[in-house]
Amino acid sequence: MAQNSNKGSAVYDSSFDAHSPKQLTLMSDLSHALENQELELYYQPKVKVSDGSISGAEALVRWNHPKHGLLGPDQFIPLMERTRLIQGLTLWVIQEGFSQCAEWHRTGLDIILSINLSAKDLNNPELPDLISGIKGATGINPAWITLEITESSIMTDPDAAMGIIRRIHDMGFQFSIDDYGTGYSSLSYLKSLPLKELKIDRSFVSDILRDESDAVIVNATINLAHNLGLEVTAEGVEDQATLELLKEEGCDLAQGFHLGRPMPQSEFNQWCSENR
Ligand code: C2E
Ligand code: CA
Ligand code: CA
Ligand code: CA
Repeated sequence: MAQNSNKGSAVYDSSFDAHSPKQLTLMSDLSHALENQELELYYQPKVKVSDGSISGAEALVRWNHPKHGLLGPDQFIPLMERTRLIQGLTLWVIQEGFSQCAEWHRTGLDIILSINLSAKDLNNPELPDLISGIKGATGINPAWITLEITESSIMTDPDAAMGIIRRIHDMGFQFSIDDYGTGYSSLSYLKSLPLKELKIDRSFVSDILRDESDAVIVNATINLAHNLGLEVTAEGVEDQATLELLKEEGCDLAQGFHLGRPMPQSEFNQWCSENR
């Protein structure tokens, strides 16, 4: 499978079908992927809408598969989420992400790292202690880390999820609602969760210049978040005109291909030194 190059960063081939009979072998490959060091974190910049300066990065996992080439998370995370493998992946991402973030801060790069959690993580009562251990080992300041959760991942078992989120938040870590607007949940959890941020899903953001109802939803979400004292990030910003409109709407942060693609760590560091 070919690795394309786009603006210097590797792009994976989305034609690989995780639902084909191949998925069974993929599943067994996955259990070895971690030990064989085939997983890699890419980092996508998150910038302030007001002045374009970097504020953070999101860690997005990639799998350098020995046979299939570079695989994106949509091609293996859903498979992992059906088993406990996802918990091993999450811990690896946290270990790797915390180390990298500590390194950035040691070299004077003051950025916040966002890490994705999945539904099974929010049902794992051992997660807070595991995170606490990795925090101690890496010397990370929890204020540098935001954990992204989705509406649907909370709703699997809201009471259990809430307890785990509270314990992690009590250590000083921040929480964000990812893909906001795509879940089925009510708004009541918004006030009961210790949140810092809402991330408006790409499906609402990408068309705000052409689709009036998307523009209305984005505007309402920004106001709702601000009235609740939360920051708002728009995902999937692909052009300057969209960024300008988000600026008029008072959106705080933006992420998207127009600002920067997910990049391997060395390329991300290079990007930061050019965009500071
Ligand atoms: P997500 O958390 O919503 O991450 C944003 C996705 O949107 C990423 O896809 C990113 O590459 C893509 N994206 C960013 N800007 C743009 C843009 O301007 N246009 C378009 N079309 N796409 C954009 P990616 O890396 O393929 O990740 C897909 C999903 O996989 C993520 O969605 C997240 O749910 C999951 N994922 C990624 N890494 C991890 C991880 O370490 N752990 C867990 N549990 N899930 C992960
Ligand atoms: Ca995310
Ligand atoms: Ca998202
Ligand atoms: Ca998504």
